[in-house]
Amino acid sequence: MCKNEANIIKVGNEEFEILLHENEIQKRVKELAEIITEDYHGKLPIIIGILNGSFIFMSDLVKYLSIQCEIDFFKLSSYGDEKISSGKVKMLKDLNADINDRNILLVEDIVDTGLSISYIKNIIVSSNPASVKIATLLLKPESLKQKIDVDYVGFEIPNRFVIGYGLDYAQKYRNLRSIYALKQ
Ligand code: 5GP
Repeated sequence: MCKNEANIIKVGNEEFEILLHENEIQKRVKELAEIITEDYHGKLPIIIGILNGSFIFMSDLVKYLSIQCEIDFFKLSSYGDEKISSGKVKMLKDLNADINDRNILLVEDIVDTGLSISYIKNIIVSSNPASVKIATLLLKPESLKQKIDVDYVGFEIPNRFVIGYGLDYAQKYRNLRSIYALKQ
């Protein structure tokens, strides 16, 4: 049995405070999975996780689905180790699956400026899928620079830098079960 995580985490000179507790996250991920199960009934979607940040959300989400699905992954680089989005996006891993005429669900950890997911959606659409939808655990509505329709949103959060549940700080802290925000 794992110990409960602290409410405050110290990272060098900075402090992160709990924003979303693990129980709250699990409850919401189950709810999203139930909605997605209904929406994709009989459709055998390909669920595409955007690496690295989505890996925990993706894994919990698919475990809670009660439909058949296929899984693939995309990898982009955008932030480096910075806390502010550079908006520069580079493809690091392409898809293995043939997505022509398939129903695609893209799974993101967080939509911040919206530039990464817009870029990926354009690439996917150019391969003629039957449909493309987007699921993100977190959305920062105040940071959006690109108009993008997100079909499934776990939580809308303020414009703060967050870590945990897949989200990193210089590649660390992804394995926290809760989500923490940088204290202002
Ligand atoms: P966007 O292109 O929407 O600005 O950024 C999307 C990507 O930036 C996310 O998939 C995530 O990897 C990273 N990102 C955006 N906001 C945060 C944040 O608050 N914390 C962390 N750790 N990564 C973030």
